[in-house]
Amino acid sequence: MRAGPSQEDIRRHNLGALLRHVHLGGPISRAELTSKMGLNRSTIMALTSDLTAAGLVREELPRETGRAGRPSLVVRPESARVYVFAFDVGPDRLVAARVGLGGVILDRRETTRERGKFALDELAGVLSGFARQMRRKTRDDTVCVGAAAAVSGGVRKGDGVVTFGPNLMAHDVPFGEELGRRLGLGLPVSVGNDANLVALAEHSRGGGGPVRDLICLHGDVGIGGGIITGGHLLGGFDGYGGEVGHMVVNPGGRECSCGSHGCLEAEVGERALLELAGRFGPGQHGRDAVRAVVDAADRGDIVAQEALSRVGDWLGLGVANLVNIFNPEMVIFGGMLREVYLGSAAQVRSRLALHAMAPQREHVRLRTSALGDHATLVGAAELAFAHVLADPLEVLARVST
Ligand SMILES: [Zn+2]
Repeated sequence: MRAGPSQEDIRRHNLGALLRHVHLGGPISRAELTSKMGLNRSTIMALTSDLTAAGLVREELPRETGRAGRPSLVVRPESARVYVFAFDVGPDRLVAARVGLGGVILDRRETTRERGKFALDELAGVLSGFARQMRRKTRDDTVCVGAAAAVSGGVRKGDGVVTFGPNLMAHDVPFGEELGRRLGLGLPVSVGNDANLVALAEHSRGGGGPVRDLICLHGDVGIGGGIITGGHLLGGFDGYGGEVGHMVVNPGGRECSCGSHGCLEAEVGERALLELAGRFGPGQHGRDAVRAVVDAADRGDIVAQEALSRVGDWLGLGVANLVNIFNPEMVIFGGMLREVYLGSAAQVRSRLALHAMAPQREHVRLRTSALGDHATLVGAAELAFAHVLADPLEVLARVST
């Protein structure tokens, strides 16, 4: 006979679940927690007391409710006290932020970077420097409980090594380890693929809301994908699952950075759009360049309109394949694909109507990212908070000593 979970396991699970409600949903009354978590009032009181004593939440009387009777105390996250460092390593920019419990961006530093070689030393140096600057400005009673980075590349499950990132020129880079060493906080730095983290961020905090089946297509230079099915991120055997950018939509088409031809990324990515619009050249890249094509099309520029229409066809074909395979409730376009989708929604929808099967197509909603430019950073912060939510008291005891 297998032993069931111990009292301690149950308590740990409940503490994490309560903290997750407060972290993702914001201030919430004890009464609401009682009904949402299906636990009795005295258990909720004991759990909130433990989290309050650890300095993770605080309880306050609610503002005037206008109702008679004793009001239920409101539980709030200690956002100014408990925080993580979140990093975003994109092809064109480096961002570091201090994000408080509850998902509040407390402080942020950003710099542009030139496309090219993945200089591990330089990137880790810039990001850890930003973190030190932000840390110097914190009060004495603040506590850093985690750190995580979103990178535009493939990240191996288990050790966070960036094994490939054609658009970052990265191969087998122990990025998390190096950044952790330089931060010197005694904390490991988790590393995740940017599109996967965007999917998690949209799922927990964005337009994804309670949606359990969603696909995020995130574009920068290339196109990454994050697939959430039944509430779980699809990672695959090694952690590289969801690379929808390399789904072939046009065999014999444009050459791709992966060595193949006609991948979604090659046909829809930044370079394809700019070339088709006659705008590819030195200094012409990034989201501003993509936005300029969409703006030109809006103003009636025929070449820009045709470029978007062509790219929208390939994008729609890719989405139709994904809809047929995964039956998502929502497909979200983020990064530069946000602009591309806004400029080519008619093509995307008509391809979907042509190629997606009716039962899958019927309920799928196409949306742009609700988190916008912050999505990767929010995703990295959620990755950094994950172990705190799994075992709040253990993590806090460890980092406070
Ligand atoms: Zn490819």
